Amino acid sequence: MMTDWLKGAVELTSHGEIAVDAKGQTSASGVFAAGDATTSPFKQIVIAMGDGATASLAAFEHLIRTS
Ligand SMILES: Cc1cc2nc3c(=O)[nH]c(=O)nc-3n(C[C@H](O)[C@H](O)[C@H](O)COP(=O)(O)OP(=O)(O)OC[C@H]3O[C@@H](n4cnc5c(N)ncnc54)[C@H](O)[C@@H]3O)c2cc1C
Repeated sequence: MMTDWLKGAVELTSHGEIAVDAKGQTSASGVFAAGDATTSPFKQIVIAMGDGATASLAAFEHLIRTS
């Protein structure tokens, strides 16, 4: 599984998907994920692109709030 190397670092589902919330936040604070490797529904290009934009904005938001 492509996400095996993340075992123990972030929460993965039984299918190996990285569990993310609506902002792409993983179970590890400040660690974001996007696209097919996540629990985001519908494995399509346009969805992965939107997820990437969301996760990058959420990472920016996290940085300005914590630094
Ligand atoms: C045969 C096929 C046909 C498809 N047709 C369509 C279609 O017509 N329309 C559509 O919208 N979607 C289609 N899809 C789905 C679409 O390809 C995906 O939804 C999209 O590519 C997901 O983008 P992503 O960036 O999340 O992942 P990916 O495009 O899979 O990118 C992940 C990248 O990460 C790299 N990677 C993996 N592990 C590591 C690592 N440990 N370190 C560094 N890099 C790593 C991989 O090599 C890969 O380049 C198709 C998929 C397949 C398999």
